[in-house]
Amino acid sequence: NPAKNKYHPIDDASWEKDQRVPYLALAKTLEAIEATSSRLKNMEILANFFRSVLILSPDDLRLSVYLCLNKLAPAYEGVELGVAETNVMKAIAQATGRSLDKIKSDAAAAGDLGIVAESSRSTQKTLFQPQPLTVQAVFNKLKEVAGMTGSASHAKKISMITSLLVACKYSEARYLARSLLGKLRIGLAEQSLLQAIAQACFLTPPEQDRSEWPPKKLDCGKKCSAETLKAKFEEEAYKVKSAFCECPNYDILVKALLEVGTDGLREKCKLTPGIPPRPMLAQPTKGVADVLERFDGIKFTCEYKYDGERAQIHLLEDGSINIYSRNQENNTSKYPDIISRFSKCIKGDVKSCILDTEAVAWDIEKEQILPFQVLSTRKRKDADEAEIKVQVCIFAFDLIYLNGESLIKKPLIERRELLREHFQAVTGEFVFATSVDTDSMEEVQEFLEESVKGNCEGLMVKTLDAKASYELAKRSQKWLKLKKDYLDSGGDSLDLVVIGGFNGRGKRTGTYGGFLLACYDPDEEVYQTICKLGTGFSDEQLLKHTESLKPHIIPNPKSYYRFNTQLTPDHWFDAVEVWEVKCADLSLSPVHTAAEGMADPQRGISLRFPRFMRLRDDKKIEDATTASQVADMYKSQEVVKNSTNNKKGID
Ligand code: ATP
Repeated sequence: NPAKNKYHPIDDASWEKDQRVPYLALAKTLEAIEATSSRLKNMEILANFFRSVLILSPDDLRLSVYLCLNKLAPAYEGVELGVAETNVMKAIAQATGRSLDKIKSDAAAAGDLGIVAESSRSTQKTLFQPQPLTVQAVFNKLKEVAGMTGSASHAKKISMITSLLVACKYSEARYLARSLLGKLRIGLAEQSLLQAIAQACFLTPPEQDRSEWPPKKLDCGKKCSAETLKAKFEEEAYKVKSAFCECPNYDILVKALLEVGTDGLREKCKLTPGIPPRPMLAQPTKGVADVLERFDGIKFTCEYKYDGERAQIHLLEDGSINIYSRNQENNTSKYPDIISRFSKCIKGDVKSCILDTEAVAWDIEKEQILPFQVLSTRKRKDADEAEIKVQVCIFAFDLIYLNGESLIKKPLIERRELLREHFQAVTGEFVFATSVDTDSMEEVQEFLEESVKGNCEGLMVKTLDAKASYELAKRSQKWLKLKKDYLDSGGDSLDLVVIGGFNGRGKRTGTYGGFLLACYDPDEEVYQTICKLGTGFSDEQLLKHTESLKPHIIPNPKSYYRFNTQLTPDHWFDAVEVWEVKCADLSLSPVHTAAEGMADPQRGISLRFPRFMRLRDDKKIEDATTASQVADMYKSQEVVKNSTNNKKGID
């Protein structure tokens, strides 16, 4: 068999039971994912890798999961990878004996330092074959690098990275370099990874449950049809995803999976103070009438929508207090003032809790809310309470955990009662969100106007009694936002990802004159183009964006970008920035691919007269407006135009 003699690098990636996972096996998996655009195929590739890990080296599953996501710890631990590009270049130069200038020019031409690292290593002749890298060794080294701070650590970091690069084979150098730069560029979303873990654990249960094959749960055995198997995968994925929603920590999740499998996760991965879940988010609406239509026959409450920063306040059993952002960053050291006065706000017997609140800048003298811009002048980390100039008032609107018990399944009316029963307001420091329970259109309208006068963004309208649980990590139909600017400009803004740039002409020569923007489809895990944007920028902003996007130019569009070749930009960018964009309205488009098939079988949706508003550096790429949101926005305006019924179901 001639194929047998044909060497394939994957041969080097195999390993034996109880050995550590070779880093090459992971690199080869990432390489296969990068080369494949089908989401299902990618999940299968990843699940197969995890199955091998489960059978041969289960202790490495946790580290393998982290490296696939390019993380070293949960977000709230603040362990940041992301070494300066020049330092990675220096390490590549040292490891491969090539000049730094050559590495720089190759990187500029390739648009990807990972590829340069890989090709520089592969053309290098080496006398000695270093020990193969393992996932464990790479993870530990990366953690060490991430933990080093201060300018004196640069040289040490470079030498550690050099030593890793020297041991790299094939595509290992590509993924190592990209990991260090903070972006793997494989288009793998966390939801797919969770599904792949579920699939792997289902087909290859923990060792203690593996005595029979096929596993008992797979009672259809060999005759299992593709549909049945798919349904079972979905079932398993649901268990893993819901566990991760409540307890977003891979250390705990993977340990639990290995101990009890997917069936036991519910018991082991629960909402826990100190582990911040992703919060519930709201759907936009177009006006009071829209709200009343959507909540027709359902009891709801209206609350002021405060314009500050979300603050999830956790009180742990040991008395410590942590504060987390909307994106699970640990903001505890930003708010020593909130922490020192928190005990004053507790009324009843509270040993542990998780409060959902908005931290808002507060004018002590005038006793009123200050704009968000004032809050953003506060120091972001390690604030010294004595030096704080901007007072913050907490507006508490939800309680999702109390004294050892998760409250997320309870309706808002009960959660709110518990909130008011166990906490007390202290003017200018900690108060409850102003609310009114009404279904009168006039009252809602009046309340909205009041909220705007009180320096708020508008209202949050929430189901109160029926269908009123707290939905973690979801932009839920149970919460609607009614913002004052929707009323002025006829719609919510969209948060879009910049994926391409068109060179400017005339006055704009030398900068980009326009950009290609995309929304995100989490089901397919692809970015779909939605508009070309060239309005709303000052010359200064254009220059700034041109500079900030330059390092992210890539030679070719990614396999997970969906676009029409009629609209090919001069430069493609890696998906790194989210921009807020407003438009006159949305229309069907023969060239854009956003929400293709959702509103029209063939056409996508595009924005008419899009206008740049601002950079949303508080949002991650996956937080961009989704394809289904775009379709909803399009449909709701059509419905408004045609005055047809716009009632939406609530799960
Ligand atoms: P935006 O673009 O409006 O900031 P977002 O995507 O960050 O939106 P949304 O779901 O649109 O989040 O709006 C909810 C946000 O409004 C919450 O994340 C929270 O920070 C803030 N907020 C202010 N007041 C309330 C309230 N009473 N209830 C819930 N959230 C509130």
